[in-house]
Amino acid sequence: FQNFLERAKVLALLDPLTQLPNRRYFIEQLQMKVESCRRSDQRFAVLFVDVDKFKSINDSYGHAIGDAALVSVARRLRSITRSQDFLGRYGGDEFAILIDLTSFPETDPAALQRTLQDYALRIVEPFEQAVELSGFLVELSISVGISLIDGRDPDVEGAMRRSDIAMYRAKQNSQSRIAIFDPVQDASHLDNYQLYVDLMQAMRDHHFEVLFQPIVDRNGRLHSLEALARWHHPRLGTVGPDVFIDLAQRYRQIDQLSDELIHLSLSNFCELRSVAPRLRLSLNLSPSKLSDPRLVDWLCEQLAAHAVPASLLTIELTERSVLMPNPVVSANLVRLRERGMAISLDDFGTGYSSLSLLGTLQPDEVKIDKSFVMAMQQDDYARQIVTLIADMAPRMNLRVVAEGVEQSAVLALLVDLGIPYFQGYLFARPLSAAALRQSALLASADAPSGPC
Ligand code: C2E
Ligand code: CA
Ligand code: CA
Repeated sequence: FQNFLERAKVLALLDPLTQLPNRRYFIEQLQMKVESCRRSDQRFAVLFVDVDKFKSINDSYGHAIGDAALVSVARRLRSITRSQDFLGRYGGDEFAILIDLTSFPETDPAALQRTLQDYALRIVEPFEQAVELSGFLVELSISVGISLIDGRDPDVEGAMRRSDIAMYRAKQNSQSRIAIFDPVQDASHLDNYQLYVDLMQAMRDHHFEVLFQPIVDRNGRLHSLEALARWHHPRLGTVGPDVFIDLAQRYRQIDQLSDELIHLSLSNFCELRSVAPRLRLSLNLSPSKLSDPRLVDWLCEQLAAHAVPASLLTIELTERSVLMPNPVVSANLVRLRERGMAISLDDFGTGYSSLSLLGTLQPDEVKIDKSFVMAMQQDDYARQIVTLIADMAPRMNLRVVAEGVEQSAVLALLVDLGIPYFQGYLFARPLSAAALRQSALLASADAPSGPC
């Protein structure tokens, strides 16, 4: 019975892959450390270790190599952890170490930080060269965030949060893979952190919805639906994509989130196709998704699974995703086109290089940013920009969509300028698939649309 109990305890507290203490065990130890420091006014440090781009290692080499990568990181961490420190596997590709500082002679904070940085360097350095995993040479890099906790500092959650925020900063920094939490520099991140924790929960529980906003032609017929995501937060209500996509980007969760949103968009859209089989779908693609080498294959698999022809898809990109010269982005753009998808340049006119991008990217469509369209009546400069785009587009064989059309007077100006497609509250707000099915708009989509 005693043996059985011991074994049950091991199973409950150890991670089977790396044989390291699991998250639960680690948090238990952290809790004890926090309490003992509170009583004795001592300090300790938490090192948060994360494997960079672990998802793409898994995607490119398969799960067996992904597992081997985690085992090799665990082995390295174990080899440098002293007996008084405590190492655990905190999550998928995350590890954490509690560092006991009682034996560190440094009393001056700057000297202590340097010592901790040296400790972290010993973790990071071996991974600066590719490592061999089951016969493959794999580029594996590690980022480390460090926080110093003393008796006045917060609880377990606060300690992990600070280390995670520091780790996030380490990932952003091209010079160093190590960062120490700084209460001044990292203050704004502390505010956002709870929302980020909620976002992680929402991703696990699938608390997202996709709405569709119509893009219509001059006759008011439906041309395409743009998928726009919403997050239903249990306390805050509906949170808009500007907020949570930015958050997911900052905390490196954008790839998983994009996959979920694209999947959701396609499954809702495919229901609408039974009523309007010719209807197009416009998808916003985040910059990081566009630089994913697996994007095109993955997207085509998704399209096939939902029986949506690639030729019905328009990919909306912002200038930010295509500005940095990157061979993966260029190859993805070529391949998306080869598969029959159209490329649209979103928020057109707002970036520094909108015009030069027309040459390099050669999009099929531009969407005039709503800031110009909404200001057209009162702002002469905005009206000139819209006029310029409207004159230029037909010469370059570009389809133009004016977004943010709220007033009929603005619509009249746009029609005068020859603009063929519109989107905005004047026609419809973003609607759920169920609401669209009830509306007369959907039936109007079945008339053949333009060349793209
Ligand atoms: P966007 O692509 O420029 O989308 C247009 C935004 O303008 C939408 O806001 C839409 O609701 C809003 N809008 C449409 N018509 C009008 C109008 O007449 N007046 C005004 N004032 N606003 C109008 P939303 O849904 O909050 O989306 C914000 C941005 O978030 C989008 O800008 C897009 O860049 C991004 N986004 C939304 N859904 C997704 C998604 O699933 N994936 C990715 N990567 N980005 C998304
Ligand atoms: Ca868009
Ligand atoms: Ca836009």
